[in-house]
Amino acid sequence: MNKLEVLKEMYPEDVYGYSSALTEKEVAILQNLRHELETRVRPILIDSYENAELPREEILGAFAAARIMDHPDLFEGREDKWKAREIYNTFLYLELARFDPSVATFYTVHGGLGYNTILIGGSEEQKEKYATKVRTMTGQTCFALTEPDHGSDIAGGLATTAEFKNGEWVLNGEKRWIGGAKTADFIPVFARDVADNKIKCFMVAKGSEGLSVENVEHKIALRIVNNGHITLKDVKVKDEDRLVNINGFGDVAKIFVFTRVDVAHIAMGTAAGAFNAALRLTTDREQFERKIASFQLVQEKLATMQANVAACIAYSARVAELQEEGTAKMFNSSLAKLHNAKRMRETVALAREVCGGNGITYETEVARFFTDAEAIYTYEGTHEVNSLIVGRELTGIGAFL
Ligand SMILES: Cc1cc2nc3c(=O)[nH]c(=O)nc-3n(C[C@H](O)[C@H](O)[C@H](O)COP(=O)(O)OP(=O)(O)OC[C@H]3O[C@@H](n4cnc5c(N)ncnc54)[C@H](O)[C@@H]3O)c2cc1C
Repeated sequence: MNKLEVLKEMYPEDVYGYSSALTEKEVAILQNLRHELETRVRPILIDSYENAELPREEILGAFAAARIMDHPDLFEGREDKWKAREIYNTFLYLELARFDPSVATFYTVHGGLGYNTILIGGSEEQKEKYATKVRTMTGQTCFALTEPDHGSDIAGGLATTAEFKNGEWVLNGEKRWIGGAKTADFIPVFARDVADNKIKCFMVAKGSEGLSVENVEHKIALRIVNNGHITLKDVKVKDEDRLVNINGFGDVAKIFVFTRVDVAHIAMGTAAGAFNAALRLTTDREQFERKIASFQLVQEKLATMQANVAACIAYSARVAELQEEGTAKMFNSSLAKLHNAKRMRETVALAREVCGGNGITYETEVARFFTDAEAIYTYEGTHEVNSLIVGRELTGIGAFL
């Protein structure tokens, strides 16, 4: 394989060549993933979006066939047996999100939020029990933190309760917006222990008595992902299924250091997907007997989109390096999410604009990126919440209240 040639063809938007840090084996896995997604998911993508249906088997089948989390090549010479290199993770998200933001989001609740919760919160036995199934795609997971009455203020406001009674935990409360919840095999649910007021995490099995999951209907964005409204009524969980290393919101924040930058990567990929689709259409379609892309006003928009995507890749790749070194902090993840989400929002709007009427049909791809961007802008900390985290670091003044 001529790695640099392959990468130039796979990711032409990566104009500064950050992807050159990938190994040939990592590139081969991403190539294979692309093949699997194009074969299994592309043919049903638009219908799934319009019908708000999750093609779970096809998506998990593509992930499993390419072995995106557990391919032995990802762990050659690596001490960490659970997680591949962060730079691979960055381009995995670019690959997924530029294909489709719903597919990337479905992955992030499973292989990002859910998986990191188990790795950070679980004992060795709990990791073997749950993380092994997640990485082989034999068990689907998600991440149930936010609630109908508590989104941005979840750290202080979390209202779902856990009570230890007769040797087991009893959970009561509601969760909202939980990606993948309806189909998940095990749901990490965060609840406040009534005995010590600390936030803890419980692995709730699909079909548990007292657990019900309804999909949030009529969404304008990420229509392929099912977002669950969960109700827990006296749901019982064994003590062995409480993740032992989550004992307060500080431990939840440790998960976010990793997962918030994953969403920065999704914003990067969404911007790239919209930009590529716009480039295709404007270099193909003619008006006034000339390619649309030949007009100066259109080229200015293409240049702005390219600059945005290049800046997003730079942010993502650098935070990935810091994570690999073990020095990344919440500030880095929040800044990257804030930056990439803002640049993504501008990029998808410009992409839709230069596609004209074709930009509002799913046929030209841009429309899906345009609507999905709105959800990505909101989840994993809104623009305002991430600004407040960055602001607190810059000034030493917490301004959340
Ligand atoms: C598609 C999607 C998928 C999601 N997936 C998951 C998931 O898998 N698991 C999960 O646990 N959660 C998930 N969420 C929830 C997500 O994390 C919340 O939507 C997000 O934290 C914002 O909360 P909220 O929607 O309740 O908005 P609110 O908190 O009601 O905020 C509304 C507005 O007020 C602003 N605001 C709030 N407080 C302040 C303040 N102090 N200063 C300035 N402005 C403020 C916000 O920035 C926002 O603009 C998902 C959400 C969406 C939309």
